[in-house]
Amino acid sequence: MKLPSSPIILIVLLTISINAVIPISAHFYPNASSIPPSAIPNKTSWDEFNNFTGCNKGVKAYGLHKLKKYFEYFGYLNNSYGNFSDEFDGSLEDAVKIYQLNFNLNTTGALDEPTLKHIVQPRCGNADIVNGTSTMHSGRMFSANSTIHAVAHYSFFPNRPRWPRQRSQLTYAYSPDNPLSDAVRGVFSRSFERWSEVTPLTFSETTSYSRADIRIGFYIGDHGDGEPFDGVLGTLAHAFAPTVGRLHLDGDENWIIDGDFLNSSPYSAVDLESVAVHEIGHLLGLGHSSVEEAIMYPTISSGTRRVELSNDDIMGVQELYGSNPNYNGSNPTLTPRGERDRNVAHVLGSSSWIVLVVGIFSLLVLFF
Ligand SMILES: [Zn+2]
Ligand SMILES: [Zn+2]
Repeated sequence: MKLPSSPIILIVLLTISINAVIPISAHFYPNASSIPPSAIPNKTSWDEFNNFTGCNKGVKAYGLHKLKKYFEYFGYLNNSYGNFSDEFDGSLEDAVKIYQLNFNLNTTGALDEPTLKHIVQPRCGNADIVNGTSTMHSGRMFSANSTIHAVAHYSFFPNRPRWPRQRSQLTYAYSPDNPLSDAVRGVFSRSFERWSEVTPLTFSETTSYSRADIRIGFYIGDHGDGEPFDGVLGTLAHAFAPTVGRLHLDGDENWIIDGDFLNSSPYSAVDLESVAVHEIGHLLGLGHSSVEEAIMYPTISSGTRRVELSNDDIMGVQELYGSNPNYNGSNPTLTPRGERDRNVAHVLGSSSWIVLVVGIFSLLVLFF
């Protein structure tokens, strides 16, 4: 190819080619029943893990190295020893035990049926364990009232990154490579609102993709950040910690826009709003939670919808940013840790009085 002689013309041509709009054919459907049968796969890449049902330490099973890669991807194993083998070794057993703990399963260390059922579920591509530290099952105690106690499991990225106080009015934009319909943009706008309702943060759409705080795009396979997508189901999306602001979704999924799974819920249908609300949690600084009802729980079955922030999510995000002044706290069960300690002290105080009164009464009986 003959190159243009003028460097200015060359730069202009290069700029045009880099910015050329390459549409990504993400699949959006108004509801689950509108997915054509041809778009519904028979199986996904993780389904073959079901062949390992019943495997435990000491056995060798063909293909087990792929499951080790899965555990490495989500932070449960490290690959400092080179290639993974097909041996069920001690480090895989440890990884399975931590996974079971994070997902509230019996910690058998074996690939029993309930564990594999979780492993093959579609999920967020962000790791559960970052830098070798699992915070998913951190088990902070908080008091719902003076008698009932629940456990909070929200987590943060290492060093708790958050958007700085002076950047509470955040902007977002969609990749110019993915022209999106109003209906799809509406899903993201509703998802942002769920987080702004409970925090002082605001989110507004901007047309300037390069200057937006949060940049949203649909990608297929390897898209340049070392976290390739894997086709239908498997990993659905991933998002980066503050203040990177990148939210990537798998363009190969069958995304459902209106959350309607009433008449049909084919195996591959994924609710876009459920995934968007979860990924925005990451953009704000939240990690994964082991509370199954929480938005920040890592897996979501296809054909299901989970869009309401749970107490666990609200407590987590408010620990980073505080509450929205207009938030009426429709979840009165949220009690900061300091207050919990006071409640516990109060309960202990009451018991001490009872012990004292019973003691004095016993002494009186003894003497008289
Ligand atoms: Zn996630
Ligand atoms: Zn990505």
